[in-house]
Amino acid sequence: MGNIKERVAYLQGLTQGLNVNERSAEGKLLINIIDVLDDMAEEFNNIQMVQEDLETYVESMDDDLTDLEEEVYEDIASEELVEVQCPSCHETVSFESSLLESDDDLEVSCPHCGDIVYDSTLEIEVSDMGNGQVNSDFRYGIHPGI
Ligand SMILES: [Zn+2]
Repeated sequence: MGNIKERVAYLQGLTQGLNVNERSAEGKLLINIIDVLDDMAEEFNNIQMVQEDLETYVESMDDDLTDLEEEVYEDIASEELVEVQCPSCHETVSFESSLLESDDDLEVSCPHCGDIVYDSTLEIEVSDMGNGQVNSDFRYGIHPGI
C-alpha cells in the first residue's frame, strides 16, 4: 500500500511540476481526482493496519489452540489401561485406569462372555472391612497395561 501512497505523492508533485492549477476546469478536475486518490490511499493504509492486527490476533489464537490440542492429546496418551483376566473365560479385558478412581459404582463386564470382571462396589466393601490395604485378590487380578 506504501506503493500507492508513493505514486499519489508523485502525481501531486507532477501537477505542481506541470503547473496544473485550479484556474482551469481540467486542472481543477485533476487536482480533485488526485486528492480523492490520496484519501483512498490513506484508507487502504488504515485497512491494512487493521488487517495486520487481525492476522496477529488470529495467529496467537492458532498458537493457543495448538497448545491446547497438545495438552489434550497428551492427557489422552497418558491414560493408562488396566488389564484384567476374565475369571470365566480367561480372556484379557482392558479398561481405562481412571475408571478405578471414579466415585460412581462401576461394573466392567467381559466383552467375550459377559461376566463381570471388575465391580467397584465390591472393592469398597473389601477395603472397608480391612485395614485400608487393597485386597490381594484385587491386586492379583488387575495389572497395569504395558
Ligand atoms: Zn469372559
